[in-house]
Amino acid sequence: MNTMSRGSVTDARLQPVMRSPLSYGALTGIYVVAILVPWALSYIEGLAVRGWYEELVQLLSIIGLSMMLLQFFLTARVDAVARQAGVDNTMRLHTKMGELVGYLVLLHPLLIVAPRFFVAPSFALGDLWDLFTSPETSTGMYAWCLMLVWVLMAVFKERTGLSYEAWRYTHSAGFVAIIILATHHAMTIGRHGRYSAWFDIMWFLLCVVAVALVVYVYFFRPRAVAKQPFRVVDCFKGSDSDWHLTIEKDGDFPFDFDAGQFTWISTSDSVFARNEHPFSIATTRRSLPKVSYVIRELGDYTRQLAKLGAGHRVWVDGPHGVFTQNARNASGVVLIAGGAGIGPIMGLLRELGDHEDKRPVTLIYGNRTIEQMSFMDEIASLECVLNLDTQLVLEQPPENFTGLPGFINQEVLSGVVSQPESINWDFYICGPPVMVKAVEESLLSLSVAPERILYEQLGF
Ligand SMILES: Cc1cc2nc3c(=O)[nH]c(=O)nc-3n(C[C@H](O)[C@H](O)[C@H](O)COP(=O)(O)OP(=O)(O)OC[C@H]3O[C@@H](n4cnc5c(N)ncnc54)[C@H](O)[C@@H]3O)c2cc1C
Repeated sequence: MNTMSRGSVTDARLQPVMRSPLSYGALTGIYVVAILVPWALSYIEGLAVRGWYEELVQLLSIIGLSMMLLQFFLTARVDAVARQAGVDNTMRLHTKMGELVGYLVLLHPLLIVAPRFFVAPSFALGDLWDLFTSPETSTGMYAWCLMLVWVLMAVFKERTGLSYEAWRYTHSAGFVAIIILATHHAMTIGRHGRYSAWFDIMWFLLCVVAVALVVYVYFFRPRAVAKQPFRVVDCFKGSDSDWHLTIEKDGDFPFDFDAGQFTWISTSDSVFARNEHPFSIATTRRSLPKVSYVIRELGDYTRQLAKLGAGHRVWVDGPHGVFTQNARNASGVVLIAGGAGIGPIMGLLRELGDHEDKRPVTLIYGNRTIEQMSFMDEIASLECVLNLDTQLVLEQPPENFTGLPGFINQEVLSGVVSQPESINWDFYICGPPVMVKAVEESLLSLSVAPERILYEQLGF
């Protein structure tokens, strides 16, 4: 094991990843328990049970509010949580649960009046109208309307024409307003105002924590990031589509990472500008104090990387993520990269090279064209150090191409999975979300155990 920088670790921030980080499944389990706690507590009140339907509506209302509050916690990047669970995992859960929260909130008034449509249909629409117009439910109604607009904005994020940064600010501001209104609604109307003061105070305090987490992300987190200044060493086109960016620590502060992790980087003048983008580290800790990234040209930010001259200030938030080889016991490793996914995959491959690992390693690397391939020479030289088998896959292969044409699909993967010893191998996937999902599904349908599949999507 390389101890180059681990040996001098004294600061708690220098333990970026636990030896055994929480899996996504375990995180989801903790999440489910957490959202059920307020519902369980509501029974301490001893309010009479009023039939299964009302109890179901109560359950859905309470877990809906709990989930809304937890959404803030999942994106807060609090170091202690990030180290245990991985920001990639918490962001993934935030995105998945966001959809469910949207449905729960939007269905909430409809679920309340639904029985009226069966019992007294002629009054049901009137009841629904009362629900939306009565002064007692006004904060709930405002929260519901805002939620509708914000859910639509999240669903049609790409079509709104907003830059990611503008979208992020509006997303945060909108949901702060929604959570304040929804908490007020729960405290005044929840079970018709019959909960005791302590139950209402609990919602109030949880709401205060949620808003405080937003304040932390936008105002206090940048102060911590300001203590980690880096400078650009170089930034050049390493392939037709990808920039290879190398930055270097600009000061004597502790910084360490595990191969495969990512950081948010901001090249704005002010650390408070929050114009930050997540990119995965392509090197190992042997490269410190330098850190490198492979960045695909995609949109407004990544298209202007040419402007980054040597010496340009870079703010680094991280490292984050659990896409690492820590605490794994595989007898072989399969690394699958699509496009810019080669960045963290190179980090993992280089780490295996640093350790002169003797296990069988397979690299499957896909791109659209041969001109988009990076690190071909380095991969060839790693084949001399490692027991490495490389398979290149191209959507548009040139005439003399010796790799595989098309996509990284089940057919390509079955060649690896058919080897009997692969049952104990780890499969690392990194690339655009669509590619990661397709490869993961192929591996699962080839009977690879879910716990053997680790992935990082280049997008939350
Ligand atoms: C954990 C993680 C690791 C990543 N690692 C790499 C990497 O190593 N190399 C690489 O090329 N790309 C990586 N990405 C993707 C990269 O962050 C985006 O491609 C980049 O931010 C696009 O910015 P843009 O303004 O040029 O493009 P845009 O056209 O603005 O955005 C393109 C896509 O990227 C998303 N995006 C844009 N800005 C951000 C942001 N600030 N935060 C999160 N998502 C954003 C948008 O939702 C959109 O789907 C990673 C993403 C994540 C989540």
